Amino acid sequence: MTAKTAESFERAAVLGAGTMGHGIAQVCAQAGLTVRLFDVAPEALQRGLAGIDSFLAKGVAKGKMKAEDAAATRARVSGTTSLAEACAGADVVIEAAPEKLALKQSLFAEAAAAAPAGALLASNTSSLSIGAIAAGLPAPERFLGMHFFNPVPLMSLLEIVRGPASTDAAVDAAAALGRRLGKEPIVVKDAPGFASSRLGVAIGLEAIRMVEDGVASAADIDKAMELGYRHPMGPLRLTDLVGLDVRLGIAEYLARELGPRFEPPRLLREMVAAGKLGKKSGQGFYRWAE
Ligand code: NAD
Repeated sequence: MTAKTAESFERAAVLGAGTMGHGIAQVCAQAGLTVRLFDVAPEALQRGLAGIDSFLAKGVAKGKMKAEDAAATRARVSGTTSLAEACAGADVVIEAAPEKLALKQSLFAEAAAAAPAGALLASNTSSLSIGAIAAGLPAPERFLGMHFFNPVPLMSLLEIVRGPASTDAAVDAAAALGRRLGKEPIVVKDAPGFASSRLGVAIGLEAIRMVEDGVASAADIDKAMELGYRHPMGPLRLTDLVGLDVRLGIAEYLARELGPRFEPPRLLREMVAAGKLGKKSGQGFYRWAE
């Protein structure tokens, strides 16, 4: 693909209007891009658009955003249940559909055909291999990972994952776009867990082993990281928020890919089997009020 500057991005297509997709659509619109948000499920699309409305309304109510800026942002986002319509004329396609390889492959096959030949194609996958998603794509050189964090409008990290065929021009364009969206891009290799999950999960699993060994209480282990290392939140509270079942799935995947150091601790398996999944179930390393 030819080199793109941040300003050359005018139109974005976002595939999937769930937790991540609607947030990505919002930050693109806030940065001045015209956004087509696509979802296969009309009700998910409506929920996503309503999520943007609600976030912008809160921003205005708190005085963080002018009402006219919020209105202009919202006016730049439109929803569609047609993938071809979403991708037509797009300078960048960002996919935030469910974490299933075959689904993402088929979405990108369609998107690559519907979007202009120079469009940047990016997946927000949190764990799948960029090389695997790109396999079979007609133009894998313009494909890469753009891994945003939840909630997208508030989290500044953007992991740009360089696939085996991604060109420097594609990586530079994604980084430039990321900065325009107000994010701090880092560039990582297409390795399991990228930079963020690999390190975050390693700390989380060790913290669980420490609870298992009776080294300290969950609250004190968390405090050690919060006060001693300035983590905004300790690893066990974070595990509760992410979901113990989600963490277990990622640990099993990383253990398969990277070896036994990511083997899930016994306590994690036991808690998941007992339905202690963290905040969403009311009980994890902490008890969560309804
Ligand atoms: P989600 O379940 O909230 O949203 C997924 C959306 O995709 C749903 O609205 C669903 O209707 C839609 N969808 C299903 N099939 C589709 C299709 N064929 N085409 C288009 N849309 C389709 O999921 P999410 O949490 O937003 O995650 C999306 C992606 O982002 C995943 O790859 C996930 O790994 C990644 N991710 C998630 C987080 C997080 O904290 N939730 C963080 C970083 C990355």
